[in-house]
Amino acid sequence: MDLSRDLSQAIYEYAPGSSVVAGGQVWTSRGLYRLPGRDLVEKSYAVCHECGAFRESMGTVDPVCPTCATPSKSAQRTFTVPEFGFVADRNSTRPGSRPPRRSWGGMTYVLKESDDVHEFSFRVAGGEITTRFGPRGRLVNIADGPGKAGFWVCDYCGSGTPLAISPRPPKHDSLRRGQPCTGPSRRLDLAHSFETDLLRLDLQPVGLAGDRPSHLSTLYALLESACDTLQIAREDLGGTLLPVSRGAWSFVFYDTVPGGAGQALQAQASLPHIIDAALSRVSACDCGPETSCYGCLRGYGNQRDHDELSRGSAAKVLRLLIPR
Ligand SMILES: [Zn+2]
Ligand SMILES: [Zn+2]
Ligand SMILES: [Zn+2]
Repeated sequence: MDLSRDLSQAIYEYAPGSSVVAGGQVWTSRGLYRLPGRDLVEKSYAVCHECGAFRESMGTVDPVCPTCATPSKSAQRTFTVPEFGFVADRNSTRPGSRPPRRSWGGMTYVLKESDDVHEFSFRVAGGEITTRFGPRGRLVNIADGPGKAGFWVCDYCGSGTPLAISPRPPKHDSLRRGQPCTGPSRRLDLAHSFETDLLRLDLQPVGLAGDRPSHLSTLYALLESACDTLQIAREDLGGTLLPVSRGAWSFVFYDTVPGGAGQALQAQASLPHIIDAALSRVSACDCGPETSCYGCLRGYGNQRDHDELSRGSAAKVLRLLIPR
């Protein structure tokens, strides 16, 4: 069966412990495919607990966030790029009454913006919005497993287990030979970086949009409304916050199809309509304004942010973004 997926999606859907349905059977991923003599790329990285900025290094990452100058509270982590794919359990099962355990999500970060940017600005209630669209921006997707705890991955055979399931490196059989494996397991996350079209929005003056949760809430309101307005599938347009300084974030939208498929460009052209639609969306919902629901801001892809999302805070920001 061809289960090929772009690696930017595969690191979530085929992560160790995840299951997919194919050919009427449930297949569970047991680890990463390793090729003899060809090491998988690994890098150290850290995400600032204060602003969410991402930084990576082949060696030791800077212990202080270069964006907001906050010293890191936690140890750096390591990701690997599973470029040879994943190994499924030899035995598939029949689908049960419960849906299979799918991906646990993760985060997307901007590594590099486009060199060739088309920019325009317009006046809005809160000041001015600057929009910058460009091709070949670079993003990285990180899959850090259930509970953001990462995965044990065996150095010898690639066998993988979420730390949330096994707090200690598990005894395991070799993925290839099926015999007990004595290889050491290390804690890793999974990553894939790719180039695509980026659209960045900045509100001037900065700081009006409040804290990170209110920016996140606004980001998801804009994403949902962009997909409604442009009639595109929700999974084709991604979004993330780009920290720019202490207490200030840009909104970034991107084509999830590597290389770009025109969605972010269309979003730039329709931005005034999208902002209007987003404000209607978060104003009209039945859930409590201090919370959110699947009718306004929540979706399958932003589960890890659900507790932070509030449609009231999105409405407050969106009122500043209304063109005038
Ligand atoms: Zn920071
Ligand atoms: Zn092993
Ligand atoms: Zn709602």
